[in-house]
Amino acid sequence: MGFVKFLGTAGARYVVAKQLRYSAGTWIELSGTKLLLDPGPGTLLRCRKSRPPLDPEKLHGIILTHRHLDHSTDVNVMLEVMADLGQGGRKGVLLAPRDCLEGEDPVVLKYVRKYPERIEVLEEGREFGVGDIRITPVRHLHGDAETYGVILDSPEGRLGFVVDTKFAPELPGRYAGCDLLVLNVVRLKPTPGIDHLSLPEAGEFIKEVRPKLAVLTHFGMTMLRAKPRELALKLSEDLGIQVMAAEDGLTVEARLWRG
Ligand SMILES: [Zn+2]
Repeated sequence: MGFVKFLGTAGARYVVAKQLRYSAGTWIELSGTKLLLDPGPGTLLRCRKSRPPLDPEKLHGIILTHRHLDHSTDVNVMLEVMADLGQGGRKGVLLAPRDCLEGEDPVVLKYVRKYPERIEVLEEGREFGVGDIRITPVRHLHGDAETYGVILDSPEGRLGFVVDTKFAPELPGRYAGCDLLVLNVVRLKPTPGIDHLSLPEAGEFIKEVRPKLAVLTHFGMTMLRAKPRELALKLSEDLGIQVMAAEDGLTVEARLWRG
C-alpha cells in the first residue's frame, strides 16, 4: 500500500532557522517506487530517525522542485546515500530545474553527479517515468527560482504537489483529477509581493480541483500561530472536502485518497 510521509513541514525562513517544524522533505512510496521530494535541511537525519525506518539507500529518485535552501540543502548527501555511496555503481534518478544544475550558482554539486543513473531537467511539456510513476512537472511562479509543482500518476492514483508558488487563476486547472492534493501554504493571508500561497488561495485551489483529500504543509509563522489543524478543519467544513494539516512525521496512506 502506497503512502506519503511528511518528514518536515516547515515553510518559511524563520520556521526553518528555529526548526519550529522540521525542514526535511517528503517521502513518497507508490506501487513499490520510492521518491523523495525537496530534501531540505535535516532530510537525511529525519529519514534515519523515522519510525518505522525509511531506508534512503532504497530510493529510486529525488525530485528537486526549486533551488531555495529549504528545499535543496540535503540534495547532495541524499544523492550519495541513494546510490549507496556508489558501491554498486550509479543508482537512482534526479529530477531538477535547469538552474539547479547550470548557471552561476548550481545547488547540485558537480562531484556528486557521478552517483545517479540519470539526471533529468524538469521542463514544462515534458514527462518522466520512474518505476511505475509518471511525473508531470507544472511550472510555478516563484520569484527568480525556476520552480515546478509535480503530478505523480501511478496505479495508486494521481497525486499533486503544489509547491511554492504565487497564486494564478490558471494553476488549479493544471492539477485536475488529482486524488490527493498537497499544498505548500506559507501564509495565513494573501500578501502582495510574496510568491507563496496563502490559506484562502489554497482554499480556492482545493475548491477547483476537488481532490478526495487535500493536505496543507510548508507552514510559515502566521499559519503556525493560527493552528493549522483548526484551519484545515474549518476549510473541510466550508468546502465539503477532506482537508488535513500535515505535522512532522505524518504518514498519509493511499486508502485515504483512494476511498
Ligand atoms: Zn521557495
